[in-house]
Amino acid sequence: MSAVSNELSSFERFQTSVRQFDVTGRTLLVPDMAPFHARLLAACFRAVGVHAVVMETYRGLALGKEFTSGKECFPCQVTLGDILYHLKKEKDRLGAEFSPERYVYFLPEADGPCRFGMYNKMQRLILDRFEEFRDVPIVYLSTRNAYSTESIMPPERSSAFRKLSYVAVVVADVMDRMVWRIRPYEIREGMTDSFADKAIDLIAAAIESIGESLRFEVLHELVEEIAGTAATFIDPRKPPRPRIGIVGEIYLRSHPDSNQNLIRQLEMYGAEVLNASIAEWINFVSFEQSRKLQRDMKSAWAARDYENLRGVFRDLVSIEIEKLYQKWQQYRVYRRAWRHLDIPGDHSIASIERKLDSDRLFNFAIGTEAALSIGGALAYAHDGFDGVVNVFPFTCMPSTICTAVLKPLLHKMKIPYLDAPYDGTIQPNREVALRTFIYQAKQHMKSRLEGKNNNKAE
Ligand code: SF4
Repeated sequence: MSAVSNELSSFERFQTSVRQFDVTGRTLLVPDMAPFHARLLAACFRAVGVHAVVMETYRGLALGKEFTSGKECFPCQVTLGDILYHLKKEKDRLGAEFSPERYVYFLPEADGPCRFGMYNKMQRLILDRFEEFRDVPIVYLSTRNAYSTESIMPPERSSAFRKLSYVAVVVADVMDRMVWRIRPYEIREGMTDSFADKAIDLIAAAIESIGESLRFEVLHELVEEIAGTAATFIDPRKPPRPRIGIVGEIYLRSHPDSNQNLIRQLEMYGAEVLNASIAEWINFVSFEQSRKLQRDMKSAWAARDYENLRGVFRDLVSIEIEKLYQKWQQYRVYRRAWRHLDIPGDHSIASIERKLDSDRLFNFAIGTEAALSIGGALAYAHDGFDGVVNVFPFTCMPSTICTAVLKPLLHKMKIPYLDAPYDGTIQPNREVALRTFIYQAKQHMKSRLEGKNNNKAE
C-alpha cells in the first residue's frame, strides 16, 4: 500500500512540481543548449524582471549518466547532468544558506510522439531522490500552445517577452551565421571567436537595457555594426571551401560539447559550414499550430459547432499574424547583416513543405523534426551545397527516419552525406569518416565549379 501511495505521490509531483507559474522573484536556471541563444534568452528574461542565469554545461555529464539507465535520449542525460551539477555546486557554495525555493529549473517540452515531452517528468523523479533538491520546481513552455509565456510571468510582461525573445533568437542565429561565414577565412586564427564572445555580451546588455520598450532598432544597429567589423576579418586570398549543411535533432546539432565540436572539426578539415537555425524550429512550431487550428476549424464546421468555430477562427487569425510578425522581424535582422556580409538567409517553413510535397518523400502531417531535417537537406541541395551532415542523438527516433530517407535520396543526387550520431562516447572511426566526407565534398565542389554537376533538387 505504501509503495502504491508513494508512486501516486510521484505522479502528483508531475502536476505540483513540473508546472507553469509566475517565476518572478526566483533564479531561473536556463540550460545552455546553443551558446549564443542561451545567453540572449537569459538576457530577455532579465529584461522583464526575471533573474535568469545560464548553467554551465557538460561538466555534470557523469552525474547525468549515473542517474539514468542509458536508454534515455542523450540530451536528457546532458541536461540532467547540468541541473544536478549546478545545484550541487550552489549547495557547496552556499552551505546552510542554500535554499531550493529560490531556484526554478527551466525545461521546455514538446507535444507529440517524441520523448522530449517526458524529459522534465523524468528529471523531476530524479531530482526528488535528493532531499535538498525536492523543492526546486521545474517550469516549462510547451509546443502545445506554441510556447505561450502567459503562464510563467505576469500577462502584461508576457507579450513583450515573447516578441523580445523571438528577435533575440534571430539575432543569435545571425551571430552564428557570421561566425561560420568568417571563421574559415579569418586573417588571424581565433579573432572571430573572441570578437563574437564580446559582441554577444554587448547584445545581451542591449537587450536588458531596452527591456519592455522593444526598441529593436538598438539591436539592429548593433548587428550592423558587428557585421561591418566582422567582415574585415576575412582574408580575401583564402580560396573558397566546400559548403556543408547541417540538419538533425535540434539539441545535438546546436550543443557543441554534445556533438564534439562538429562544426569546428569540419572547418578544421577544410569546410565552410552552415547549421539549421533555432528560429526555424520556432517558426515550425507556429506553422504546426496553424495547421492544427485549420484541422480544428474543419471539424467544427463539419459538426456545425459554430461557437467553437468562432473561437478557433480567432486563434487561427492570431497565429497567422504571429507568423507574419516572425517573418518580418527575421527579415529586419538579416537585412542589417547583409549590408556587410553575404551570410545565408533562413528557409521559410512553407518552402520546406513545398520541397517535401513535390518529392513526395515525407509529409508534415507525420509530425516531428524529421520534416524539417529532410526538407532542410533538400533546400541545401537546391542551394548547391557540397555535402549534408545529419547530426542526432544515438537512437533518436525522428533522426533515424531522416537517415532512412536522406541517405538514398542524396546518394541519387550525388551529394555527399554523413550520419553523425552521438551518445557521449568517442567513436574511433569518427575522424576518418569526417575526413573522407570532406574529401568527397571537395570533389563535389570541384565538379560543381567545372559545371559537371547536375544534381540540384527541383
Ligand atoms: S527528437 Fe530524438 S532525442 Fe529528441 S526526444 Fe525525440 S527521440 Fe529523443
